[in-house]
Amino acid sequence: MTRLEDFKGIEGMDFFAEDRGMQVLLGELLREADRETVFASLHECARLVSGPWNELAREANRAENLPRIVKYDRAGNPTEQIDFGPFTRQLRREAAAFGILKEGRSNLHLFALVYLLAHNGEGGLDCGLSCTDGLIRVIEAHGSEFLRETYLPRLRSVETPSAGAQFVTERQGGSDVGAIETEARDNGDGTWAITGNKWFCSNPDEYFLVAARPAGAAAGTAGVAIFFVPRVLPDGKLNNISFRRLKNKLGTQSLPTAEMDFNGATGYVIGDARDGFKLLMSYVINVSRMHNAANACGFLHRAFLEARNYARQRHAFGKALIEYPLIQETLVGMLEKLWRYRLLTFRLTAMIDEHGLVPADAEQAMWQRFLINLAKYRTGATLTASIHDAIMVLGGNGIVEDFTVLPRLLRDAMIIETWEGPHNTLCLQIMRDAAKSNLIARWRAEISSVLERWPEDFLSTTRNQFEETFAQTVTLLSPERLMNNGWAAMHARRAVDRLGDLLELAWLAETAAHQASDHTPALLASISGDKLLSSGSGFEPPSAEALDQHTLSLINESHIRAEVAPL
Ligand SMILES: Cc1cc2nc3c(=O)[nH]c(=O)nc-3n(C[C@H](O)[C@H](O)[C@H](O)COP(=O)(O)OP(=O)(O)OC[C@H]3O[C@@H](n4cnc5c(N)ncnc54)[C@H](O)[C@@H]3O)c2cc1C
Repeated sequence: MTRLEDFKGIEGMDFFAEDRGMQVLLGELLREADRETVFASLHECARLVSGPWNELAREANRAENLPRIVKYDRAGNPTEQIDFGPFTRQLRREAAAFGILKEGRSNLHLFALVYLLAHNGEGGLDCGLSCTDGLIRVIEAHGSEFLRETYLPRLRSVETPSAGAQFVTERQGGSDVGAIETEARDNGDGTWAITGNKWFCSNPDEYFLVAARPAGAAAGTAGVAIFFVPRVLPDGKLNNISFRRLKNKLGTQSLPTAEMDFNGATGYVIGDARDGFKLLMSYVINVSRMHNAANACGFLHRAFLEARNYARQRHAFGKALIEYPLIQETLVGMLEKLWRYRLLTFRLTAMIDEHGLVPADAEQAMWQRFLINLAKYRTGATLTASIHDAIMVLGGNGIVEDFTVLPRLLRDAMIIETWEGPHNTLCLQIMRDAAKSNLIARWRAEISSVLERWPEDFLSTTRNQFEETFAQTVTLLSPERLMNNGWAAMHARRAVDRLGDLLELAWLAETAAHQASDHTPALLASISGDKLLSSGSGFEPPSAEALDQHTLSLINESHIRAEVAPL
C-alpha cells in the first residue's frame, strides 16, 4: 500500500487465530482433554473482542459516555450511585453473559480470556472483572454462609455484572497498608459499622470489599480486617456511604475511580478479623495482580498486532516499513518480550490450577507468591515503553485517537504499572520474602533443573552466557546481602530483574527445546540472551546472522527452521 486511503485495520479479525505464540503456549500448558473446548472458547471470545466489544469499548471511552456520580434521584432522594454509561454497562453485561467468570472455569482458561479482553484496553470492563473475581474467591473460601448464599449469585449474575470492588488505599498511602485509619466497630448483631475515607475506589458499583481496623485492634497490618460492604443493604435501604468525587485520571477513563466516605456503613466481616491482611493479600490482591499481568500481556500483543499491521501496509521511500531493519528490530523486540512475559504469567497460572491459589505447602505458597509479584512487576514495568514503541512505528497516525487503539493503551499502561503494587513495592516485597525464606534456593533449583535438561549443543552461546550470569547472580544474592536491609532496599529492582531475566530465559529455552520442529522460541531465546545477558557492544549479536534470514518469518509468526545449535 502506498496510499493511506486503502489502509485496513485489524478490527474484526480473530486475535487468537493471529497469535501463534499463545497457541503454542496454551498447547503445552492445557490438558489434552481440555484443549479443544478452551481453544474454541478463545476463538469465539477473540472475535467478539475485535468486533462488537471493540466498538463498545471505543464508544464507552468517548467524553460524553464517561461515568458520573448520581447523588439524588428525581424526587431528591439520595442514591449515591455511579452511572457507568450505556456502553460500559452493555459491555459488562455481554462479557458476563459470555461467562468469563463462570464457576469451575480453570485459571488457565479464565486468564487466557482476560488476556484477550485486554486487547481492547478497556478498564471499565477489565478492572471490574478483576475486583469481582477476587471478591468471589475470598467469599467462596472464607465468607459466612450469609455472604455466600446472598452475594455469590449476585457477583456472578448478568444483572449486576462485574459489580465487585476493593478499597484499601487511603489518603496517607497505598503501599503502606498497615497505616490505614478506617475503623470498624462491632455492632454485636453480626454486622460492623465502618467509618473512614477511601482515596482510590475503582469500580464502585454495588459490592465493596473494604479494609478497616476493628476498634482496639493492633497497629500495622496485623490489625487490618476485611469487610463486605454492599451499596444497598439487604432490606433495600441505601448503606451509609457517599461519593466525594470521581478522579480525573490520565488513563482508564471509562472506569470510575472515586473518593468515598463510609459513615458508619454496615459491613460484614470476611473470615477471621485477625487474618484480614493475609486474606486480602492471598485472595484479593494476588488475584488482581494475576489479572494485571494477563492484561499487560494482552496490551502488548494488541500493540504488536497494530504495529505489524501498519508496517506491512505503509510504504516510505519506496518500500513497506516492515522491510526496514530498524522497524523489524522494534517488532522483534516486542515479540521477544511478549513470549517471555506470557510464559511467566501463564506457567504461573497453570501452577495455580495444579496447587491452588493458596497452597497448603508453605514452600509452594512462597514460590507462587514470588511468581505473582514477579509477573505483576515484569509485565508492567516496560509496558508503557513498549506501547510507545508501537506508536512510533505508526508515526503521526499512531498519535491519533481514532486511528488505532494505541493512544488508549498507552494511557492505560501507566495505570497497569501503578495499581495493585507499583514496581518498587513489589520488588521490595520480593526482597523481604527472599530474606526470610528459602525463595532463592527454590529459584536456584528451578534454574538448575532447566540447565540440566538444556543440551550443551543447543543454543550453546546463550547457554554459556546464561551459566556465567547465573553463577554471578547466585554469588551476588548471598543470604548475608539479602538480610542486609540497606543493601536490599538499594538493589531491589536490579536484583529482581536478574531473577526475572534468568527465570524467563530458562523457561523460554525449555520451551524452545520442546518445539523441535519450529525454531521460533529458540531464535527468541537467543535474542533474549543477547539482550539480557551479553556484555558485548550490541553491534554484532550472535543471533544477527540467523535474524538476517528469518526476521520476517519471526514477525509473521510463521514456522521457522534455522541452524540454532550455535546461537
Ligand atoms: C487509576 C487508579 C485506580 C486505583 N484503584 C484503587 C482501588 O480500587 N482500590 C485501592 O485500594 N487502591 C486503588 N488505587 C491505588 C493504588 O493501589 C495505589 O496508588 C498504589 O498502591 C500505590 O500507593 P500510593 O499511590 O499511595 O503510593 P505510595 O505508597 O505513596 O508510593 C509512592 C511511590 O513510592 C514507592 N515506594 C513506597 N514505599 C517505598 C520504599 N520503601 N522504597 C522505595 N519506594 C517506595 C512506591 O512504589 C510508589 O512508586 C488505584 C490507583 C490508580 C492510579
